[in-house]
Amino acid sequence: MKTFLNGLLDAIFPSGCRYCGKKLGLNREVCFCETCWKSIRIIKEPACVYCGKQLFNENEHFCGDCTVRRLSFTDNRSAGIYEGVLKEALHEFKYKGKRSLVSPLGKIMTAYISKTGGVEDIDFIVPVPVFEKKKADREYNQAELLADYIGRSFKLPVLKDVLLRVDDTPPQYKFGVEERFKNVNGVFAVNNSSKIKWACILLVDDLLTTGATADECSKMLLGSGASQIRVFTLARGL
Ligand SMILES: [Zn+2]
Ligand SMILES: [Zn+2]
Repeated sequence: MKTFLNGLLDAIFPSGCRYCGKKLGLNREVCFCETCWKSIRIIKEPACVYCGKQLFNENEHFCGDCTVRRLSFTDNRSAGIYEGVLKEALHEFKYKGKRSLVSPLGKIMTAYISKTGGVEDIDFIVPVPVFEKKKADREYNQAELLADYIGRSFKLPVLKDVLLRVDDTPPQYKFGVEERFKNVNGVFAVNNSSKIKWACILLVDDLLTTGATADECSKMLLGSGASQIRVFTLARGL
């Protein structure tokens, strides 16, 4: 029976693991083989206390970027390093319509929180929004799906009508550091600000690289009465 099912699945989903090509078992929704999932590097101590970047020297507490620029959120924590399988999985999730990846990717985030703590003071989760037209084209906002997954796991409300993206801009990866900050300047707006007065918010996104997007969102939320913004992202660009 199992062989028959595998044969049938091979016909429907002919490709193997998206990273190494190895044949996948019955659970093809996860797109990658078990060995590849296990190869994802989870961020460990020491990591920058502000931006969550993996550090490699035991005596360091913050990274070089944070010595020259402090962003408006309290801190960012990222679960994994943006490379290899995690980078590929995020690409499939974000641009190739592999919505089912929310489960294994969300699990990486919730496992990280369970281990390190840090959501005890959170009142609400707010996902980083995408421009409505883009969301309609992709059929979902990946940050929203991850936020829902975390919200369900830790019984935290997810507010989707508070932070809006009012302008579309080219993707951040096309720009250098300074240009990334300019690219997102003024593209977010806050709605229903009474909901977030004095709130401690967990801002959720899939990826943090320079922190420009999270910084801009945090400025807007703090400017509208939130008391603190903590950021949590699936992956941290090096
Ligand atoms: Zn593989
Ligand atoms: Zn840092």
